[in-house]
Amino acid sequence: MTESLKGSSAFDARLTEITSIGRVPASRTPRKAASSAKADQTSATDQVQCCDVLILGRGPAASAAALTATRLGLSTVMMAPRRPIVPTPAEMVPAGFTSALARIGVRHRSLCRQGHFSAAGRDTLAGWHVDRVQLDLLLLRAAVRSGARLRHEMPEAPIQENGRIGGVVCAGGLVRSRVLIDASGSAAWLRRSLGLRRTALSDPLIAARGQVRGVLPFLGADGMRFTPHPSGWTLMIAHDGLVSWTVLCTDGQHPEAPGSVALLPETIRTSHAAVGWQLTRPVAGDGWLIAGDAGGRIDPAGGSGLSDALASGARAAHAAGLCLQGDGPTAAARSAYDDWFAEMITQRAAELSRRYEAHGIRLDRHPMRRRAA
Ligand SMILES: Cc1cc2nc3c(=O)[nH]c(=O)nc-3n(C[C@H](O)[C@H](O)[C@H](O)COP(=O)(O)OP(=O)(O)OC[C@H]3O[C@@H](n4cnc5c(N)ncnc54)[C@H](O)[C@@H]3O)c2cc1C
Repeated sequence: MTESLKGSSAFDARLTEITSIGRVPASRTPRKAASSAKADQTSATDQVQCCDVLILGRGPAASAAALTATRLGLSTVMMAPRRPIVPTPAEMVPAGFTSALARIGVRHRSLCRQGHFSAAGRDTLAGWHVDRVQLDLLLLRAAVRSGARLRHEMPEAPIQENGRIGGVVCAGGLVRSRVLIDASGSAAWLRRSLGLRRTALSDPLIAARGQVRGVLPFLGADGMRFTPHPSGWTLMIAHDGLVSWTVLCTDGQHPEAPGSVALLPETIRTSHAAVGWQLTRPVAGDGWLIAGDAGGRIDPAGGSGLSDALASGARAAHAAGLCLQGDGPTAAARSAYDDWFAEMITQRAAELSRRYEAHGIRLDRHPMRRRAA
């Protein structure tokens, strides 16, 4: 769906919609607007905004955090740079993804689509995938409707006071927060700003992905196929007359589009991304938490990036809620979140290692070798 809209007026309308969500007209920007009073608690000067929770990002982890924080009654601001949404090929999700969305209060009957899935030539019953632009839009819209306020800005530096993070400095002034949640994805803004330690759990890995228009006979109209080979894998998802593909090489080669799509017209241009497995520690500290890819990830073969983004965003906001209860176990809540996050990524990495082994995919150049980056 997303991809078929690329270049069309419907797609442009979506971009306009997503980039204007939660925007406050310039004349009202610093003043407290009635509809955003919940999020914008103080505007003592035009340059300072105060909130309980400031969330960096507008992806799945950020929206899940915002939805949870507003449900806990916390005044919530989301901050992300104003960038057009990049059309993204379909991504696979586990069968329970719709329930994961429902747990954060988002219901959508047709967002997750089921395809006929086969892995390594063996058919399995279910394979699910989602339209990324539609997912991000749905979540962001729900977050803003729930009371989160969206600022289209780039954070410039964290506010550090007596070893505590108290918000961020940005071009529009200061945003003071009682808890900052970084969900800036691979930008990992807070990790970089604080110089936190990141551990590589695999060799650096590069994935290529793209999308073409057409139907591949071996996939059919709604097929999904995961094809392993000794030095990587290829994932193909057919939907709406399009084929979304992802290729990963584990031997250091730069992946290319699969030969079977080479002659079909591109609807999303091939792009490359670093997808090596990694984990930041800690992902929580005094006044801050990190969620989603910004804290850790495995490569897309795990099919867990989106679910983990939702789960960690929601959990980070819960931990923020505990930290803000005043007498609550502030340090304990932070440390419980940090342990939970590390355990989740470590377990994912162990599961994917086993799956690679079962499929005969070699990660043998640097299997699960831990290196500080
Ligand atoms: C090639 C590839 C294929 C994938 N396939 C799958 C798949 O099939 N299934 C699956 O589950 N997962 C897949 N993933 C992983 C999945 O896309 C991510 O795990 C997921 O997007 C993480 O969500 P997030 O909210 O943490 O980060 P993102 O979705 O990356 O969102 C980060 C947000 O932060 C914003 N931002 C950036 N910099 C800043 C900043 N300085 N300040 C504030 N905001 C900022 C960005 O604009 C963005 O909105 C794939 C990833 C890749 C690269």
